[in-house]
Amino acid sequence: MVSNTQTTKTISLDNYGIKNAKVQYQLSPEQLHEITIAKGQGEEASSGALAINTGEFTGRSPKDRFIVKDDITNDRVWWGNINIPFDSDQFEKLYQKVTSYLSGKEVFVRDSYACADANYKLNIRVINEYPWSNMFAYNMFLRPSEEELKTFTPEWTVINAPGFMADPEVDGTRQHNFAILDFTRKIALIGGTGYTGEIKKGIFSALNFILPVFKNTLPMHCSSNVGEEGDTAIFFGLSGTGKTTLSADPNRRLIGDDEHGWTNENTVFNFEGGCYAKVINLSEENEPDIFRAIKKGAILENVVLDSNNNVDFEDVSITQNTRVSYPIYHIDNIQEPSIGKNPKNIFFLTADAFGVLPPISKLTPSQAAYHFISGYTAKVAGTEAGVVEPTPNFSACFGAPFMPLHPTKYAEMLSRKMKESGVNVWLVNTGWTGGPYGIGTRMKLKYTRAMINAVLNGDLGLYNYDDYHIHSVFGVAQPRTCPGVPTEVLSPRATWNDDQAYYTMAFKLSNAFRENFKKFESYASEEIRRGGPQRYAF
Ligand code: ATP
Ligand code: MN
Repeated sequence: MVSNTQTTKTISLDNYGIKNAKVQYQLSPEQLHEITIAKGQGEEASSGALAINTGEFTGRSPKDRFIVKDDITNDRVWWGNINIPFDSDQFEKLYQKVTSYLSGKEVFVRDSYACADANYKLNIRVINEYPWSNMFAYNMFLRPSEEELKTFTPEWTVINAPGFMADPEVDGTRQHNFAILDFTRKIALIGGTGYTGEIKKGIFSALNFILPVFKNTLPMHCSSNVGEEGDTAIFFGLSGTGKTTLSADPNRRLIGDDEHGWTNENTVFNFEGGCYAKVINLSEENEPDIFRAIKKGAILENVVLDSNNNVDFEDVSITQNTRVSYPIYHIDNIQEPSIGKNPKNIFFLTADAFGVLPPISKLTPSQAAYHFISGYTAKVAGTEAGVVEPTPNFSACFGAPFMPLHPTKYAEMLSRKMKESGVNVWLVNTGWTGGPYGIGTRMKLKYTRAMINAVLNGDLGLYNYDDYHIHSVFGVAQPRTCPGVPTEVLSPRATWNDDQAYYTMAFKLSNAFRENFKKFESYASEEIRRGGPQRYAF
């Protein structure tokens, strides 16, 4: 394990209102790993990774995520059920309750930063109630050198108290857990939930406001990697669509797996210093890079261990959202620092459980803008009694829960950058083929990888009319052949063996797109609207 964070520096938390705390400042991941086990809060898996349970919450809680409404945010934030306003005085009171809760306790503090590009660096101090949460911060944020640490001044502070329960009546929260961003005080206040993703997505949400508003830079919910020729690719997509999986490619250097900025200096940079991968059904064969990153230094969340402390990746008895976090250097082939040039290719990943979108298709600039604003993926139904209807899930910019501004703000920036850079945009369905969820099967990972490789190697140029077919419902350009992929897989209709059923489902989905897009219609130009499906069921 690399851990250049041993320090003799000591700090006091008095000025935060955290009094008489036993401050554990900047402990190494090894120390945090040991302390977690000594406290009975985790176990060492046979791989050497630390296995912990996040408690009541095993995922983020979007309904309990608030933004303080103040002079900075009032006129800028797109308020609603995604960005829920929180009163500033109420925040002050809750802040005092949380800090007095942490007073007198052992508290783990870590100085770190976000944004790999020095021009955008955001210094962050993370204050955790639990040692494993602090180790998560070590894994996920960027790690200052010893030299940088000497003069480190935090700009944003994350205060993370999973054991603190809010009283909704008094505290103005919805229930006992909350994640609140205050842009004036520059604090992310998280309580009542131990889910670590709230920590990283809290800072992501802050950057999604700060970068476009103050730095003219586009923040993106995407992964990114770069090839031998210095050609950058980025992969947008909602949770579970394959950002982390597909960006881990042994032949390309990983820039990052989840959060990036696209600057006006024609660069793309990672916000983070680590990865946070889903591990459901993980196998060394399918995902060797991620599998091998799970070693000492990694933190497994909510997995089940057998009597030999081997992880059973198939066991979802705690949650489907089992995860591992690890510092990016656990991946062999990485770009250092995590910065690439303007992307040459952009992939929009969608896990279409209707099984109707082509596994890969090329988008026109209008279609790219339309699909970015739509942000489509699908949720699969639960496992109850034969109910297999998937539901469409639209999330603007492929990350609405983390976007404080109106989606069109990000979409306009992306459209402009796509035009200026002449980037190619592809829609990739990593979801179902041969029928919808329940009838068809998930697209084979090796085929998806082959399609992406074909694009990256320039083997899917689609220069001649004979190279592709325009999808009759969605209007996207579907390649007819692709190296490494059976030809029939490229046409979703052909995989169904039932044209009528296929088109019925395709219209169901195109109608869902139309319905969802209504709320953006008045903002969208004619050019963007033209990028939508070509046909609907009436
Ligand atoms: P999050 O935003 O929550 O981090 P993500 O976009 O990074 O989500 P992944 O962690 O990559 O999503 O999850 C994709 C999941 O789908 C993995 O478990 C992967 O094994 C599985 N999968 C199955 N088939 C495919 C496919 N064809 N392409 C990509 N992923 C696939
Ligand atoms: Mn991911």
